[in-house]
Amino acid sequence: MAFTGAGISAESGIPTFRDPGGMWDRFDPSEFGTWDGLMALAMTRPDALASFLVELRRMFAAAAPGAAHTALAHLEAGGILDAVVTQNVDGLHQAAGSRRVVELHGSFSRTVCLMCGGRDDVARDELLANLDRAVVGLRSAFVPSLASLLPRCWRCEGPVRPDFVAFGDTVQDLPEAEDLIRECRVLLVVGTSGEVYPAAALPEEARRSGATVIDVSAEPTDVPSDLRLRGRAGAILPAVVELVLGPAP
Ligand code: NAD
Repeated sequence: MAFTGAGISAESGIPTFRDPGGMWDRFDPSEFGTWDGLMALAMTRPDALASFLVELRRMFAAAAPGAAHTALAHLEAGGILDAVVTQNVDGLHQAAGSRRVVELHGSFSRTVCLMCGGRDDVARDELLANLDRAVVGLRSAFVPSLASLLPRCWRCEGPVRPDFVAFGDTVQDLPEAEDLIRECRVLLVVGTSGEVYPAAALPEEARRSGATVIDVSAEPTDVPSDLRLRGRAGAILPAVVELVLGPAP
């Protein structure tokens, strides 16, 4: 099993939020990381919210799977890796070819309707167009509510938003992730600081169930582990694949 965080996508053009100079240094997570905060910002500081969305758009427009995402997809294709549990919302594991991906914090590749709860896949172009529309709306006119800027659900005409898990929201598919983690023999933890709960409890859960936990990260982390590999995921994971599956043909 692999359990991934923001660090695995750092080399793909999506910086981590928590590291120094990251998004949360420039945008207060208590405002920009919560749904209530975002709704309040749309009405009280639309320019600030527009700047945040422009930054998100820039990251998502440029992002492509990196060597680390591809390495995990190769391990799955080679029958070594059962699944990836990720905290990321960028869809890069699937783009790299991973088939079984549990997205604890949701995904920007999906929308959820605030009225009927219906979910739909959304292509990257559509996501970028939706972000553009929201930025234009925030910068051009009085904004009565964030919902007024959102696209409409094809089922019920309710407002739809990207299906990410904000701070304070319930994580998605946690029971499935916990089942996978309890059954695994080795858990490869990649690019997570181990600070965001409840996801951060999964490595300890794996150890309690008898698994060996390997932590791959650029900097020291809070992840309880048996083996620490310090460095870029994009360098370490391809080397792991070569060790386990042999040199690429
Ligand atoms: P984090 O930002 O708390 O920790 C990132 C970790 O990755 C750090 O330990 C850092 O040393 C390490 N790292 C940075 N670059 C690396 C590299 N090239 N190779 C290996 N390791 C590297 O990340 P987190 O624990 O996942 O928590 C951040 C939260 O914010 C998550 O819950 C996630 O939902 C969200 N987030 C998602 C994305 C995304 O989808 N790509 C990006 C930023 C934040």
